[in-house]
Amino acid sequence: PVSAPDSATAEPLTIMGAGLVGSLLSLFLARRGHQVDVYERRADMRRGGAVEGRSINLALSDRGWRALEAVGIGDEIRQVAIPMYRRVMHDVHGNLSFQPYGKDNQAIYSVSRAGLNRTLLTLAEAEPRIRLHFNQQLTSLDPRHRRLELRDTVTGQEQELAFRRLFGTDGAFSAVRSALQKTERYNYSQSYLDYGYKELNIEPGPDGEWLLEKNALHIWPRGQYMMIALPNLDGSFNCTLFFPYEGKHSFASLQTPAQVQAFFEEIFPDVVPLMPELTDEYFRNPTGSLVTIRCFPWAFDDDVLLLGDASHAIVPFYGQGMNAGFEDCTVLNELMEQLGDDWPAIFSQFQQQRKPNADAMAELAVYNFEEMRDRVGDPRFLLQKKIESKISAQYPDQWTPLYSQVTFSHTPYAEAWQSGREQEQIMSRLMSHIQTETDYDRPEVQALVAQEMAARS
Ligand code: FAD
Repeated sequence: PVSAPDSATAEPLTIMGAGLVGSLLSLFLARRGHQVDVYERRADMRRGGAVEGRSINLALSDRGWRALEAVGIGDEIRQVAIPMYRRVMHDVHGNLSFQPYGKDNQAIYSVSRAGLNRTLLTLAEAEPRIRLHFNQQLTSLDPRHRRLELRDTVTGQEQELAFRRLFGTDGAFSAVRSALQKTERYNYSQSYLDYGYKELNIEPGPDGEWLLEKNALHIWPRGQYMMIALPNLDGSFNCTLFFPYEGKHSFASLQTPAQVQAFFEEIFPDVVPLMPELTDEYFRNPTGSLVTIRCFPWAFDDDVLLLGDASHAIVPFYGQGMNAGFEDCTVLNELMEQLGDDWPAIFSQFQQQRKPNADAMAELAVYNFEEMRDRVGDPRFLLQKKIESKISAQYPDQWTPLYSQVTFSHTPYAEAWQSGREQEQIMSRLMSHIQTETDYDRPEVQALVAQEMAARS
């Protein structure tokens, strides 16, 4: 049977995928007066037990906050978010070094992926214009005739629906995008890192306390690979080991519990006592892959539009995937504000504006992997970061560190990346004159900095 979505008082819109981006998008669209039907392959995550997919917690930063505030849940999420003010690096002997993320009170926030998604779904459900349909998997899409087929994942029953406008927020392996890939002159690429990831857990202390510094993102940089940990509210931390698939130290080289135990004791000795389930978890938890997906166009006429990971999946090293997807919603909302119901203009301007920024973010994410796994363990790098923050304090209008532009600003990613590369060149010129932090105050160094700043402006 073919049926159009009913109760079509305003423009009926369809969203495929009620993950982080789809559920947020439904709120933006409904609040502009549209009737929204949201289809999601999984069961309602608020009903069953925890259905954790990928990372259990995520780093939320300014771009994400802006979108959450726009739908009125900034404060609610803030109550369950843990600010992380700095990176804490752990060396192979368990010695620590530190790098602030930004200025004094600037932080990225550790939030539960499932908790955030549930909150967004609850808000969507309370909105009379939104209808949520769970256990509905998109199996086929015909963008030209604006028809789609859904399969009920519980009963197996299939249905065909007509839609007027479809938003594809069904993630990195998007079925909506797969259908667009079969249209004329469609550009698509996917590229996997030679690394995978494994999630592990640090237990809370006996009184539910945090056994590592709570308000920090912990990194064990080891050159070719690394582990990170983000805090949870219950005193635990989620660790993620980013590790090569093949090679001397790799997933392939660790085949038995004894090998895993010995490896961790040698390479990450300070955390092993905090991971009583290490070897069980290592073999029980799946190894995730890391992919960058690029495609274009994101729109099919004014009928179908991709947002979030469906259009730009990136590797997780800048903590920006969800933030970028949330920023998609902010940008779309601004365009709806400006352009009213001129959907062809909205879709076209959206993809023109967002594509270069998504591409820049994809490059930044790969770039930051090297910084995290390798450079943060280098004292010269940490000195450079200190000098850079001095420059930024002295010339606040002319210099914002790249990390801050990406994380604590709304500067388009492409602009941030461009200016970050320019700044990196300046830093490498300056650092050849600097050996210690106090060198920065030497008159000849100050003169060089002033010269660089004059050349920039
Ligand atoms: P998803 O969250 O993947 O949601 C897609 C939804 O669509 C899902 O609910 C799925 O069930 C549904 N769906 C899929 N196929 C169908 C279908 N055929 N029919 C119907 N429904 C369907 N980002 C950050 O900002 N900060 C971080 O710290 C961070 N850390 C990360 C760590 C890891 C290890 C990984 C892998 C990613 C991380 N990310 C992070 C990225 C972030 O997870 C994604 O960018 C974000 O989840 C994208 O949201 P989305 O809604 O576009 O896609």
